[in-house]
Amino acid sequence: MSSVRPATPAWPPASTPRLFVDRPLGPGMTLSLDGPPANYLANVMRLQPGDVVRLFDDRTGEWLAELRDLTKRAVHLTIREPLREREAVPDLWLLFAPIKKGPIDWLVEKATELGIGRLQPVITQRTVVDRLNLDRLRAHTIEAAEQCDRTALPDLAEPVKLAALLKGWTADRALLFADETGGLPLAQAATPGPAAILIGPEGGFTPDERAMIRAVPGASGVSLGPRILRAETAAAAAIACWMSIAGDWR
Ligand code: SAH
Repeated sequence: MSSVRPATPAWPPASTPRLFVDRPLGPGMTLSLDGPPANYLANVMRLQPGDVVRLFDDRTGEWLAELRDLTKRAVHLTIREPLREREAVPDLWLLFAPIKKGPIDWLVEKATELGIGRLQPVITQRTVVDRLNLDRLRAHTIEAAEQCDRTALPDLAEPVKLAALLKGWTADRALLFADETGGLPLAQAATPGPAAILIGPEGGFTPDERAMIRAVPGASGVSLGPRILRAETAAAAAIACWMSIAGDWR
């Protein structure tokens, strides 16, 4: 048998509310939250002074904080103790053509849960979605990270055109291009080391794009099996496969 994962620590209980806070946290620090996080702690979770929450900042790790006081609009917290260091994020990027609102929200949430390091929207010739609400996508990464116990958020990059992305590509990062017309099975192409998975839009890549991608140093066309998957399914399946072969599921 290979190594067995350690159990999740018993304290604090898994039900302890967990929130991302966008500022560096440290021991003894006091902080006040307002808006949706305050509403969540005070009115949804109904926390009282003395109750504890878990906070993470995507910089220093995760902390146990105690609720000192709450008013109608704000909650005041004191950081009590460090719980975990910021995690080491597997060096995997997801390059994806923007798709419709529901599916893209699902994709961003699942990619975050599956452990992606960076989310990079890529504009391809058959990309039909022209406006991307990055703030909404970032909110989904935060919500997913809060829920799945991540201590680091994935980077969410501004959209780039496929040609520009490929032009700047260097061979030190494997480019695994999910090609529905066939390729090496992903499980064979995935090797440890920096990697990126490229997923096309609903309409797929054009033949020109396929040729352009294949010419890039470090690129290989990979197959995700004999069925044509929706873009968001392809993304989640590819990340899961890579994580179990070359990522942190091993
Ligand atoms: N409209 C295209 C399918 C696009 S599917 C067609 O009918 O042929 C959207 C994207 O998901 C593809 O561009 C590809 O990156 C990925 N994908 C879907 N199924 C795949 C498979 N079996 N193998 C590899 N990539 C796949």
